[in-house]
Amino acid sequence: MKLWVKILIGFAIGAVVGLIIGPSIAVVKPLGDLFIRLIKMLIVPLVFCSLVVGASSIGDLKKLGRVGGKTIVYFLVTTAIAITLAIIFAVIFNPAGGYIFKQVGVFEAKPMPKAADVILSLVPTNALNAMVTDNMLQIIVFALFVGIAISLIGEKGKPAFAFFESIAEIMYSIVGMIMNFAPIGVFALIAWVVGTSGAEVLLPLARVIFVVYFVNILHALIVYSGAVYIWAKMRPSYFFRGFFEAMAVAFSTCSSSATLPISMHCAQENLGVSKEISSFVQPLGATINMDGTAIYQGVCAVFIAGVFGIKLGLSQYLMIIVAATLASIGTAGVPGAGMIMLSMVLEVVGLPLEGILLVAGIDRILDMIRTCMNVTGDAAGAVVIAASEGELTRVVPKLEPTGK
Ligand code: ASP
Repeated sequence: MKLWVKILIGFAIGAVVGLIIGPSIAVVKPLGDLFIRLIKMLIVPLVFCSLVVGASSIGDLKKLGRVGGKTIVYFLVTTAIAITLAIIFAVIFNPAGGYIFKQVGVFEAKPMPKAADVILSLVPTNALNAMVTDNMLQIIVFALFVGIAISLIGEKGKPAFAFFESIAEIMYSIVGMIMNFAPIGVFALIAWVVGTSGAEVLLPLARVIFVVYFVNILHALIVYSGAVYIWAKMRPSYFFRGFFEAMAVAFSTCSSSATLPISMHCAQENLGVSKEISSFVQPLGATINMDGTAIYQGVCAVFIAGVFGIKLGLSQYLMIIVAATLASIGTAGVPGAGMIMLSMVLEVVGLPLEGILLVAGIDRILDMIRTCMNVTGDAAGAVVIAASEGELTRVVPKLEPTGK
């Protein structure tokens, strides 16, 4: 049986068992946590070594700059489209309709960081510290320097290249082993979420849940399908099927970073993205490209304005687009981070922060779809950029993509 089928079965059984048993199903959660820990264990060595190898094989700085430029443009454009769709549909469906606001507490805003601090924070003062504290952006910056230097020093860099390449291969091989455990991990996490989120939390906010899911799925169907079809001549069904395992893992773990090893595995093995492009675009995307999070923030901003009876004008909608794009870049790829960053969006637009408390109870449910789309957006980007560089190979001919 194919792995994605087993994961789907784990998912379905998890949902049914969670529904039948209810909150006490939480006893299986450690199985899900074990799965998350197993993948997380690989992130730092995998990202660092594969990015060093990628950057030194890309070699020439012009190409690195070109790939970097395309990646950033893709990330920004798709995120801006995502949040625009979110606002349009949140206005059409009006999830606040009929919801009565009850003051439930106070919430502190997360301040908007200064541009200079953001740039400084990209450079580690201690490379090993960046690795120990899982600081993905700093790891990426350091890895790029090491990779470029390896290719600049020629002969002398070869042993280091071979060393990092070998470690990266070892990590990829461990990802392969851990994937076999994915159906059980997904089962446990889904059973836990379904078992512990009762109807009394979900029903009052059913419209918010509906709009967030609807826009996320629409964005994937239009923007990601369109992007891989137009720029990579890849059939959308092929893309989604090839990336399904990573989507299921993101959906159940709610963490883009924890899903990263699996996302890279799927993009390389199933979609044919070269290791160089995948190890550059996907770690960067897992940290800064979050279309699902931007959609969630857009819908929630409109919902909260509605609940508090605040009318939004065009300039405020534009402000939401800019603020949510920046907030999603700054959101860490861990569960619940998008909700913390929502406070920044609300603050910028001048909306009441207490509104966050209204959606806090359903955050896990919303986090599942947004994380799923966050990683799918990175993979679509990797496919598009690999195709534009002539680095997309068709490794699974049986799925018959419409090839060039
Ligand atoms: N959990 C999301 C992710 O890892 C971030 C968020 O909370 O929006 O991509």
